[in-house]
Amino acid sequence: MSRLPDPPPLSDAPLAPGLYLVATPIGNLRDITLRALDVLNACDLLLAEDTRVSGKLLAAYQISKRLERYDEHVADRATPRILERLEAGERVALVSDAGTPMVSDPGYRLAKEAIAAGHAVYPIPGASAALAALTLAGLPTDRFLFAGFPPPKSAARKTFFEELAPVRATLIFYEGASRVADSLADMAAVFGPREAAVARELTKLYETCIRGPLDVLAADPRFESPKGEIVILVGPGSEKPVQAGDAESALREAMARLPLGEAASEVAKALGLPRRDLYRQALALKDGAK
Ligand code: SAM
Repeated sequence: MSRLPDPPPLSDAPLAPGLYLVATPIGNLRDITLRALDVLNACDLLLAEDTRVSGKLLAAYQISKRLERYDEHVADRATPRILERLEAGERVALVSDAGTPMVSDPGYRLAKEAIAAGHAVYPIPGASAALAALTLAGLPTDRFLFAGFPPPKSAARKTFFEELAPVRATLIFYEGASRVADSLADMAAVFGPREAAVARELTKLYETCIRGPLDVLAADPRFESPKGEIVILVGPGSEKPVQAGDAESALREAMARLPLGEAASEVAKALGLPRRDLYRQALALKDGAK
């Protein structure tokens, strides 16, 4: 491998006191910034979600620093003590197991309380699976909404998707491998055949991105028992604005052929509107027809 160019020179100024939210790689250990390494080397206190996971990163960069655990389970107990150390002028760095702290990871409460107490808070930007997946999904990037992990149970998950259905933006979800097939099925039911992508094992050996309409992805046997870490992205629904009368006339037409619930589902998919609202509207139409 050819020699890397010299990095920009380090500032002579010592690291300022405050809370540093340091992004770390999501797979490939080389995806760490020079500035992140500077902060990890210089901080007085290094907080990690899982000290064993972050210990491996530190070892790869020969940083010997004691790590203290910080996650939502210890936040109540640990936050006041960390604030005291900030108050004393220390430099505190927070990392999560992978990617950007606070993106579906611990740190929100600490950052909020540090801001409220008037401490400086610095982002040290770097990898995040959400943005990495967005860049390779082939879906619109001008507007996107990061929705985190969908609820694990199907009924709550469908409601969650229904609330997002009217949003005209690419939707980004994190999902555990064992739930991908179920989530894709519920997404196809709620969002209809929108363009989507499943990005897996980003920056790692088995990185893949499978793109296609949601109903096709939902039927793809490769997602029956996938392995690894996965981001699901769903493109925005139709650009055509829904007119006030569209839903009613589509519902009347669908109700003439289908049971009420199925009619509501069909129109929700076609118009990209929440199924719950259409079901209520369908009930009202049925009652009005009596
Ligand atoms: N803070 C992290 C970030 O900035 O991306 C996310 C942490 S969240 C607890 C873990 C989830 O992120 C995984 O379940 C998966 O959905 C996604 N993820 C993390 N690393 C990934 C990777 N290398 N490839 C695909 N998805 C990944």
